[in-house]
Amino acid sequence: MNTANDVSGLNPEIETIGNYVNGVRIPATSDDGLNVYNPATGETTSRVVRSTPQDVDAAVQAAKSAFPGWSETPPLKRARSMTAFLGLLQGNKDRLAEVITAEHGKVFSDARGEVDRAIESVEFACGIPQLLKGDFSDQASTGIDNWTLRQPLGVVAGVTPFNFPVMVPAWMFPVAIACGNCFILKPSPTDPTPSLIVADLMTEAGFPPGVFNVVQGDKVAVNALLDHPDVAALSFVGSTPVANAIYERGAAKGKRVQALGGAKNHLVVMPDADLDKAVDGLIGAAYGSAGERCMAISVAVLVGDAADKVIPQLESRARGLCIGSGMDPQSEMGPIVTESARRRISGCIDDGVEEGAELLVDGRGFSPDDTNRGFFLGASLFDHVTPEMRIYREEIFGPVLSCVRVDTLDDAIELINAHEYGNGVSCYTRSGEVARTFGRQIQVGMVGINVPIPVPMAWHGFGGWKRSLFGDMHAYGEEGVRFYTKQKSIMQRWPEDMKAGAEFVMPVAS
Ligand code: NAD
Repeated sequence: MNTANDVSGLNPEIETIGNYVNGVRIPATSDDGLNVYNPATGETTSRVVRSTPQDVDAAVQAAKSAFPGWSETPPLKRARSMTAFLGLLQGNKDRLAEVITAEHGKVFSDARGEVDRAIESVEFACGIPQLLKGDFSDQASTGIDNWTLRQPLGVVAGVTPFNFPVMVPAWMFPVAIACGNCFILKPSPTDPTPSLIVADLMTEAGFPPGVFNVVQGDKVAVNALLDHPDVAALSFVGSTPVANAIYERGAAKGKRVQALGGAKNHLVVMPDADLDKAVDGLIGAAYGSAGERCMAISVAVLVGDAADKVIPQLESRARGLCIGSGMDPQSEMGPIVTESARRRISGCIDDGVEEGAELLVDGRGFSPDDTNRGFFLGASLFDHVTPEMRIYREEIFGPVLSCVRVDTLDDAIELINAHEYGNGVSCYTRSGEVARTFGRQIQVGMVGINVPIPVPMAWHGFGGWKRSLFGDMHAYGEEGVRFYTKQKSIMQRWPEDMKAGAEFVMPVAS
C-alpha cells in the first residue's frame, strides 16, 4: 500500500537505523538503506537498513537460544517483567509520540492516543497467569484425571504497517512473549525508530536477551521470516494483497499465520440519527490521521433525507479543517506519510472525478503555508459516489470521504455486505431495533453503534471479515493467546488404579 521508500545512497551525515538482536542495537554495516522522511517537511531524516536473510537468521538464532529458558520461566515471573515494561512505556509516552509524529506525520495528540492503546495491550498481557491456567477434569474416568494446558510455539514473528508503529506491534509481542514465545518484529521501514525504543525498554524491563528482537527492512526480510524453518508463526498487519500473499506463503511452509489486511469502512447515517453527532463522527473518522487508519471511515452511507441535511455540514467542516505539522497543537490533521502515497491518493481523486462523482471539496494541491514543503493534502469530499467507481471499491487510505446515497436500511446493509472488505463499520441511529438489526446482519468484523471507530478493547480482540483478514483468529485478547499457544491434553492415572491385562476396546469412562 505504502509504496517503497526510495533507496538511499551513502550519506555519512545521516544515521542508518539498524536491528536489535540479543538485547543490543546492531549498527548497520551496509550502505543499502531506505530513506526515512519527516512528512511535515519532506526532509530525509535517516535511513533504515534493509536486512538480508543472514540478518534474519541471526535474529532467529538469538530467539531460538532464548526460548528454552524463557518458556520455562513461570508465567507469573513473565508477567512481572511485562508489568515493569508497562511502567516504562507509560513513562516514555511523550518520547514515543514525538518520534511517531516525526516519522509518520500524525498529530501529536493522536500519536499519544496510539501509545495509550498499545499500553492497554500490555496491561492485558500482564494478566497472563490467569489466561494460561487451563482446564481440569477431576475423575474423568475412575482414577483418571484429564487436563488441558497451552504451551508456547517457539520463535514467532510480527510484520507491521507504517500507520501504527507502536500500537500494531503491541497487538502482537506482549501477548506472544507473555505466553512464553520469543519474538521477532519486522516493522515498517517508513517509521522504524519507535521499534528500537520499544526494544530498549523491553531490555530495561528485564526481558532476557533474544526474547524480543527487531529486524528492519522490506519484503526480503519478510520472506526470510516466512521461509525460515525455525519460525513457528507469523502475525501480519498491512494491505490486503500483501496479507493474502503472506498467508499463502506462510501456510505452504506449515506455519501458523494470521494476516490482517486493508479496509473500506462505511458509516451509515439513518434519518433518525443525531445528525450533528453523525457529522462529528464522520469528520473525525474520515480525516483523523489523514485517513491513514485501517478503521478510518472512507464511505458515508446516507439513508433517505439524511443526505441533504448532512452533506452541507460535511462540506463546510471539511473545508475548515486545520491542517499542518503534527507538532502544531492547532493541527487537526497532519501530512500524508510519503510523497508516493500523496501521489497515489491524488490519482484516486482524479479517477473519482473522471468516473463522474461530484467532488465537493478538493484537497489536491494543498499546502499549509503555500511553500509546498512536506507531503500535505487537504481533505477531499465526494458526493454521488456509486458502487462501480474505483473510489468506492478500492482502499484509498487517505483523507478522502465518499458519500453514497441509499433509500433504506436494507439497501445500506446490502451495499456494505457486497463489499470485498469487512473490517469496521458504524451505524448512527436512535432506534434500538435498527441498531440490533444492523449489528446482527452486517458482514463486518467490528461494528459501532453511534461509535465511529469501534476498535475493540484489548481483551476483546481485533479483526475484520472477508478480505480484511486471512486466518482464523483475531489479533490480541484471548484470540491472541490462542494464536500464540498450542493446546495440550494430558490424561493421567497412577499404577494403584490400573487394572492388570491389556485392553483392546476403545477406552470409555468407567
Ligand atoms: P503494506 O502492506 O505496504 O506493508 C505492511 C508490511 O509488509 C510492512 O512491514 C512492509 O515492509 C511489508 N511488505 C510490504 N510489501 C511486502 C511484500 N510484497 N512482501 C512481504 N512484505 C511486504 O502496508 P502499509 O502501507 O505499511 O500499511 C497500510 C495498510 O495496512 C492499509 O492497507 C491498511 O488498511 C492496513 N492496515 C490494516 C490493519 C488491520 O488491522 N486490518 C491495521 C493497520 C493497517
